[in-house]
Amino acid sequence: MTSTGKSFDAFRLARERGVLEGMLDLAAASRLRDRIAEDADRTEPVRWRIAGTTDAAGRPALAIRLAGDVPVTCQRCLAPLAFEVERETVTLLARSEQEADALDASTDDEVLVADHPLTASELVEDELLLTLPFAPMHEPGACAAGNG
Ligand SMILES: [Zn+2]
Repeated sequence: MTSTGKSFDAFRLARERGVLEGMLDLAAASRLRDRIAEDADRTEPVRWRIAGTTDAAGRPALAIRLAGDVPVTCQRCLAPLAFEVERETVTLLARSEQEADALDASTDDEVLVADHPLTASELVEDELLLTLPFAPMHEPGACAAGNG
C-alpha cells in the first residue's frame, strides 16, 4: 500500500506497527506552493515514511519521516536554494480534541486528532510545512549577496 491518496486508520496502523511509504510530488502539493521555488516541477519528490508506533508510555503514535531536497528561494539573494530535509517526528494520536488537550499537557511530542481516516499525502504536507524555514538563506559565503 504505497498510494499517497489513500486514507488510513492511524490507530490501526499504530496497533499493527504498520508502515506506509511513498513520494510527495512537490508540484502537486498545493499548500506548499507559496513556500517553494517556482521551478519546483523540475525537482525530485520528497520521500516519506509513516510508521505505526507507541511512545515511551505505550500510547499510540505515528513516526513520520521525511527525506529530500526542497527547492526554496534564498531570502537574501533571491536565488534558488535546495533545502535539505531529513527528519523524523513522533506524533501522538488522540481520539478527540479533549483527549488531544490532555495529551498535549503531558508530552513534548506533537499531538494529532485522528478521529477520522487520515490521508498520507496531507499528513506529509503538514509535516513539511512545519519543517521548512520561513526565511531560508544560503550558508554565509555561498550566498550571491555576499557576506555583508
Ligand atoms: Zn543567497
